[in-house]
Amino acid sequence: MNLLGGLVHRPRQPAATNPGDILLTATDLVVELGGRRILDEVSLTVRAGEVIALVGPNGAGKSTLLGALAGDLVPGRGQVLLADRPIGGWTPVERAMRRAVLPQSVALSFPFTCAEVIAMGRTPWSGTSQTDQDEAVVRQAVTDCQVADFAGRAFNTLSGGERARVALAKTLAQQADLLLLDEPTAALDIRHQELVLRIAREQAAAGKGVVVVLHDLELAGAYAHRVAVLDRSRVVAEGPAAEVFTADLLSAVYQHEVEVFPHPRTGVPMVIPRRD
Ligand code: ADP
Ligand code: MG
Repeated sequence: MNLLGGLVHRPRQPAATNPGDILLTATDLVVELGGRRILDEVSLTVRAGEVIALVGPNGAGKSTLLGALAGDLVPGRGQVLLADRPIGGWTPVERAMRRAVLPQSVALSFPFTCAEVIAMGRTPWSGTSQTDQDEAVVRQAVTDCQVADFAGRAFNTLSGGERARVALAKTLAQQADLLLLDEPTAALDIRHQELVLRIAREQAAAGKGVVVVLHDLELAGAYAHRVAVLDRSRVVAEGPAAEVFTADLLSAVYQHEVEVFPHPRTGVPMVIPRRD
């Protein structure tokens, strides 16, 4: 076999994963930008079957970390292994088969329809046998994200919240094992926030790994198996929200006094700014 030909022309397709398998390992990531340390020795492991919420104040480094996990940003030090291989060792198509990214904001200058935008999620699979499923996968993503009503409209005529759901549908259509979602609920009303986090849980239940940046700590506590709290470039706490979300830690991290109460029925920690 012509090895080089194989590498150039035929992407290595992902192996099947089982719940609990490690999808991604980031070790001691250091990122410096503009002379400032944006990530300082950050480590994170993502397994199939789990939702990890990344929380922390503005500027803590959440989007930068997501970029490094995605392989879009190369850290100055440290390593990201995606499916057991240094992330830079995959071609862009191979990377896209294994991890899908929902950026914090999505803008398009060309008036693509929403259906076209969602179908773009299938790009990594073109030329593979999975193209048979393109239509069904796109249809499912449209249904899951409840965007059928505006599938035919130009993406850039939608409201921020509608756009966010179409962008999520595109990310789902990519069918990568690892989903990296940067504030997918920021522009959404309550119903659609719940929808998006429910989708994250369903994806995890179907064997994917999900890392989701959230500002709403209550949402994080309710839906994430684990939370990682980022503060000034470092992960300062990680674990189940019921253990991590303490008033002391969150008051220090957010530089604003908060109170934490377990929800009377569910026990999920509710984080409320202290008001006297
Ligand atoms: P978060 O997503 O947690 O709000 P970011 O990861 O976007 O934070 O940014 C973390 C810090 O890094 C911020 O202070 C931001 O200003 C800074 N930063 C991000 N990108 C750059 C860059 N390209 N050059 C210099 N500083 C940057
Ligand atoms: Mg951000």
